[in-house]
Amino acid sequence: MLECHLPFTIQNALIPTEQGYCTVDVQVDEGRITAIEPDLFPLKQPIDATNQLLLPGFVNAHTHSSELWQRGIIPPLPLELWLAELYDFTPLDPEQIYLSALGTAVETLLSGGTTIVDHLVLIPGQEAETIAAAVRAYKEVGIRAFVAPLLQDLSMESNLPAGGYDGVIRPYVCSTEGLLELVEWAVEQFHRPAEGINIMVAPTGIQLCSDALFAGCIELSDRHHLCRHAHLLETKAQSNLALEKYGCTAVEHLHQLGFLSPQTSLAHCVWLEDTDIPLLAKTRSTVVHNPLSNLRLGSGIAPLLKYRQAGINIAFGCDGSASNDSQDLLEVIKIGTMLHNTTNLDYRHWIKPIEAAQMASLGGAIGLNLAEQLGTLTVGKTADLVLYDLTRCSLSPRTDPLGLLIWGRPTQAVSSLWVDGKQLVANGMVSTIDVDGLKQELFQRSQWSSDRHSPTVKQTEVRYRQVMGLP
Ligand SMILES: [Zn+2]
Repeated sequence: MLECHLPFTIQNALIPTEQGYCTVDVQVDEGRITAIEPDLFPLKQPIDATNQLLLPGFVNAHTHSSELWQRGIIPPLPLELWLAELYDFTPLDPEQIYLSALGTAVETLLSGGTTIVDHLVLIPGQEAETIAAAVRAYKEVGIRAFVAPLLQDLSMESNLPAGGYDGVIRPYVCSTEGLLELVEWAVEQFHRPAEGINIMVAPTGIQLCSDALFAGCIELSDRHHLCRHAHLLETKAQSNLALEKYGCTAVEHLHQLGFLSPQTSLAHCVWLEDTDIPLLAKTRSTVVHNPLSNLRLGSGIAPLLKYRQAGINIAFGCDGSASNDSQDLLEVIKIGTMLHNTTNLDYRHWIKPIEAAQMASLGGAIGLNLAEQLGTLTVGKTADLVLYDLTRCSLSPRTDPLGLLIWGRPTQAVSSLWVDGKQLVANGMVSTIDVDGLKQELFQRSQWSSDRHSPTVKQTEVRYRQVMGLP
């Protein structure tokens, strides 16, 4: 993050209140909000926010940055086959990891995100270099980052229920101990919460991880105070696999292992049983909702209204760019809010724009154990702040600004953004890195051929169709 911590005052900003909206000045000093009042005086470095909406920053609570290289190209396939193709063409150069982390951060910032959780796919044999490259990118941009090295200690054949399959399941290339040592190394090297870089323990999910790996992650999380992250029951196949593997649901199993906790966030949660819901509520785990990815991969619709009624904390995630195929948080929040109106006739349970914005900000902060510091406009909290320009065409005419921001199609809406009181976006542009240079790099490294064929999809498809009962 940048070093300077100059005091400033955001002047005449519109903020949402219980009753509607009010116009205030917000003073920031040493990276913290020190006052929120109308007509503050004296002003420190005034920033005119007339006709702008001020919100706490959102959290992109689940993504995989290196998927940026494959967005728009993977055919319509369910997760298990989509993954086979993704891994056949995954980037193998740490410089690509660096560039895609920059790109993911830029898109997150420009759609209102000040924090990112990168469930980082590791290059085999260059795991440490992968983590270092992503950390370097996030430090340069200045976004608050949770780098979560994606861990698996079982091979890809393990991620489907057996369903009559009698093929060979190979051991995975990385040992459980080696993976845990890697995370320990990453913590020593990079875990600096006060500087905005955090390492998480992040087994990919029950489908590719042993109990020993989960246990090791819990131990590391306890010893180093690390947040925990995993995919959970994204697909029907994973729900069938859990029953076959454990004789109980995946949630019951993770609960027995002790993985669920207030600092645990779980991506997807599409295929939970009703009996699983109280376990997530009781352990105060967070559900990260990735609606676009769930639609793109045909995974299903997470029963979000049931989770809300059970009091479970919810955050939003873009998921990786190859299953979305964007990193636009506002788009995710829009779809993730409206989608659930189709699941319950009782409109009184439907999600309101202000509730969606709170899930994206405070919900995200709670899932990262940062509710004391982030997620609301409160004196004493850290200044992770976003101004939206209400004079943009897509936010005009002025009606209900938050309603239009969440339900509309805001384009180029973010005018200014601060993380830890440091400005990362000014006049609608990311100011901490050379974005034009980044665009050139991404373009020059593009693979121009879209005519590619994944051998692993071909190998996996017969088994997938068999175990899923497809003709
Ligand atoms: Zn994911």
